[in-house]
Amino acid sequence: MANLSCVDALINCFTKLPGVGYKTAERYAYRVIEMSREDAGHFSSAIMAVKDQVKFCQVCGNFATGEKCEICEKRHSDTVCVVAHPKDIAVIERCHAYNGTYHVLHGVLSPLNKKGPDQLNLKSLMTRLQGGAIKEVIIALSADVEGEATANYLAALIKPSGIKVSRLATGIAMGVALEYADEMTIGMALRNRTEVL
Ligand SMILES: [Zn+2]
Repeated sequence: MANLSCVDALINCFTKLPGVGYKTAERYAYRVIEMSREDAGHFSSAIMAVKDQVKFCQVCGNFATGEKCEICEKRHSDTVCVVAHPKDIAVIERCHAYNGTYHVLHGVLSPLNKKGPDQLNLKSLMTRLQGGAIKEVIIALSADVEGEATANYLAALIKPSGIKVSRLATGIAMGVALEYADEMTIGMALRNRTEVL
């Protein structure tokens, strides 16, 4: 069956999704063939709708349908949380532990992927910080080598302006025995230790 060129083209489309290999893409394509014409239509029009309607917020770089995203429209805060991708905002929002605003870098510094400071959404962050309304920047990037390098770069860039820079605490994950934690995690946990009150 997969020698029909239109089926091959659909399989090829699905392989472009993260975590989808050829076999899974093939299963998805066969499922689409079995779908009603109406369901398949919803699928394709939903894809085109996000392409036509979703833009980036001019303030923070989050997904938006207008000039500003929903968060920048509603919240006025003196705290900005810097994340790598729009999907990270959804993760933090689900915790219900933060009600400030965000700034999306659209990546992290990565010499391997040729991402330098100019390829990140940094200029608009610095413009926001120059306004004087922001008192604290929370850096919420992944605890890996690239995330660390980006966090250090950001801290060095922002600190001279007198704005407080903080980072998400990293350490031993809940439910993980100390003997199974790696050295980097234990080192970070020790440096970020908190006083027992
Ligand atoms: Zn925004």
